[in-house]
Amino acid sequence: MFLSMNVYCTDDFSRHKNTFQTPATAKVVGTMKEIPNSNPPCIFLMYFCNIQINKKNGYYQIFHVVIVVGTRHALSLQRKQNTFIMTQVLGLTFNSFQENMYLVYDDTGECVIFDPGCNSTEEQNTLVEVIESKELKPVRLINTHCHLDHVFGNHFVAKTYGLELEIHEGEVPVLEAVPRVCKMYGIPMMHQSPEAGRFIEVGETIEFGASKLEVLFTPGHSPASLSFYCAEAGFVIAGDVLFMQSIGRTDLPGGDMATLLRSIREQIFPLGDDVKVFPGHGPMTTVGYEKLNNPFLTS
Ligand SMILES: [Zn+2]
Ligand SMILES: [Zn+2]
Repeated sequence: MFLSMNVYCTDDFSRHKNTFQTPATAKVVGTMKEIPNSNPPCIFLMYFCNIQINKKNGYYQIFHVVIVVGTRHALSLQRKQNTFIMTQVLGLTFNSFQENMYLVYDDTGECVIFDPGCNSTEEQNTLVEVIESKELKPVRLINTHCHLDHVFGNHFVAKTYGLELEIHEGEVPVLEAVPRVCKMYGIPMMHQSPEAGRFIEVGETIEFGASKLEVLFTPGHSPASLSFYCAEAGFVIAGDVLFMQSIGRTDLPGGDMATLLRSIREQIFPLGDDVKVFPGHGPMTTVGYEKLNNPFLTS
């Protein structure tokens, strides 16, 4: 249920279905906030969203003032009704390490696949079903880091969606070690990961649809772990850097405790207490919660 929604625009462009199917050029300015301590629990207020869409022969500006009071379900209904663009995160937990992979997408339908951990036909099918049911179009494949549990599905995703793998160059030795590590632990891997097709630079922006993610360098759990921060929607994809009330292990090659703690304090904490952290294992948390409750970080 939503209380009110007003859409103002400069022409009738927005009333057509699939208005936002020009992903590369759509831009959202504005913020969406979750109202704290609200009841029912998922209440959103999105205010002033200015969507500018360049088309070959013109320039459109659509002004949305949207007030939504309702559940996530109501939001997804609104999405179907084609009312606004919002960067969202969907997590799937796969393989024997209970690794979280994430689909980050917005209402253009374009999505980035982070750390596909699917390592069985069943898990592969689940991933495809979710992508199809949400009508998403995967456009990028990214690993936060290249430990085996985060790369099991690289081959499948690269092949199925015609994507090249993007990682930080410093993770190449970690990726190359995966077949050996799998053998060592006796873990069957369906397909070996392809090599990286492109290296991600620290400080660059990952763009897809109408969304942007900032690349943060957060080593310590592995030599060149990256985190991906969405300022617009207030979340960070953190790989195995920070977990709810825990941190990534530092006893694997390239790991270092002091480096990891510094990464968290200098790269993740400054993002702000309200920022949601989507970790490589376990439930979502927030920066503020970890500042107060994480035994590795409270002292
Ligand atoms: Zn890891
Ligand atoms: Zn992991």
